[in-house]
Amino acid sequence: MTTATVEVERKVETMPENAFAPRPGLKVWVGEGVVPVEQAVVSVFDHALLYGDGIFEGIRVYRGRIFKEQEHIQRFFESAKVIRLNLPMTTEQLSRAMYDTMRANGVTGDGYIRLVATRGVGALGISIRRTANPSIIIIVDKISLYPAEVYERGLHCIISSISRNHVNALNPRIKSLNYLNNVLAKAEAQAVGADEAIMLGLDGHVCECTGDNIFIISRGELHTPGRWEGILEGITRGVVMELARKRGMTVSETSLVRHDLFIAEECFATGTAAEIVPITEISGIPIGNGKPGRITKQLMEDFATYRNAG
Ligand code: PMP
Repeated sequence: MTTATVEVERKVETMPENAFAPRPGLKVWVGEGVVPVEQAVVSVFDHALLYGDGIFEGIRVYRGRIFKEQEHIQRFFESAKVIRLNLPMTTEQLSRAMYDTMRANGVTGDGYIRLVATRGVGALGISIRRTANPSIIIIVDKISLYPAEVYERGLHCIISSISRNHVNALNPRIKSLNYLNNVLAKAEAQAVGADEAIMLGLDGHVCECTGDNIFIISRGELHTPGRWEGILEGITRGVVMELARKRGMTVSETSLVRHDLFIAEECFATGTAAEIVPITEISGIPIGNGKPGRITKQLMEDFATYRNAG
């Protein structure tokens, strides 16, 4: 290993971005109720840790209300069903637990909820029969957004060399705790100084970004990869499609290849945390004129109005 490599590694280890300390006084729901963050721990024998065996949701709170609550709860239960995990709560109990955790943390304005279900504690070995008691975790905290400057200039993306998980391997429609596929693509983008990575399927079709869905505007129409391509069926994606239709735009779920991205008039990403964020450069190629597009900006405004009214 050269001295230069050692230097790089040391720098990465000490990046302030990684210096995480939970907010003192934070209360977290673990299992049956809310506990102080210091007591919010799971066993090293939980299969969520040992095998990434579990599911999660990232949810926004706007002005004290859970945004698209039913949609998130439904996706959570669908993910659970597909991984054969019996959630220990009903949808009503889950909703109550989320609001209880918000109250325990004094959240009356905007916030973010991370909802997690772990497979539970079990013997070593991947068998789900060797586990008992799935555990629900609810973290309510502040949201870390892209800085305002990113919304003004737009994201600079690479196209990742890492294919998105194939639908027949680990379908990205399952919001599983196994995010290594996305983690590695994001790390690849960061390693070359890009903001984000766009992931393609094994067939070269565009799937999504590492934590957001992707849209293009082409000849004035809105296109986004179909759910069959290997994507998380984003809840923000659904809202944006609805808002675009309300504007009278033609919206299609389709198959796209990287060429479609390069020649698009506009491009943007959507997600619970990012909401709508323009993409203005892909692999060094400017999208449109390299600035956030007119329709993207209109949809960003529409989204802000929608969530403030909701
Ligand atoms: N794709 C991936 C891989 C995600 O993790 C997410 C959520 N962060 C999204 C898309 C966007 O989904 P949503 O709009 O429901 O947050």
